[in-house]
Amino acid sequence: MAYDRNNIFAKILRGEIPCKKVYEDEFTFAFHDINPQAPTHVLAVPKGEYVSWVDFSASAPPELIVGFVRGVGKLAKQLGLEDAGFRILTNHGADGEQTVPHIHLHLFGGKRLGAMLVK
Ligand code: AMP
Repeated sequence: MAYDRNNIFAKILRGEIPCKKVYEDEFTFAFHDINPQAPTHVLAVPKGEYVSWVDFSASAPPELIVGFVRGVGKLAKQLGLEDAGFRILTNHGADGEQTVPHIHLHLFGGKRLGAMLVK
């Protein structure tokens, strides 16, 4: 799947539409999910044009992959979730229910999160 530069997260990254930003560094941009599924629900996107986890992991330069992983760790800490705990999730493709074709991680926290999957 080719990257669509008109996807909503690309527009957020370019500053073309607003978001509630919570964290930014050289490699990482994070903002509150518009439809939160937990008391804390933040989306983290790497600063690059990658559709999905497979695309990002295969094609992104190592410094971006490392920088993004570190950025998400700093984000969790900044949100105060390190001690109480949190969950990171990414959806890939149709079975994963990915709706926005720019790689993103969901970061959930702020309560006991329960089972991994709801049937
Ligand atoms: P996914 O289903 O993994 O692709 O997740 C996409 C997420 O993006 C959903 O949780 C949406 O609520 C969220 N979302 C969609 N549009 C926006 C937006 N403009 N600002 C913040 N979150 C959004």
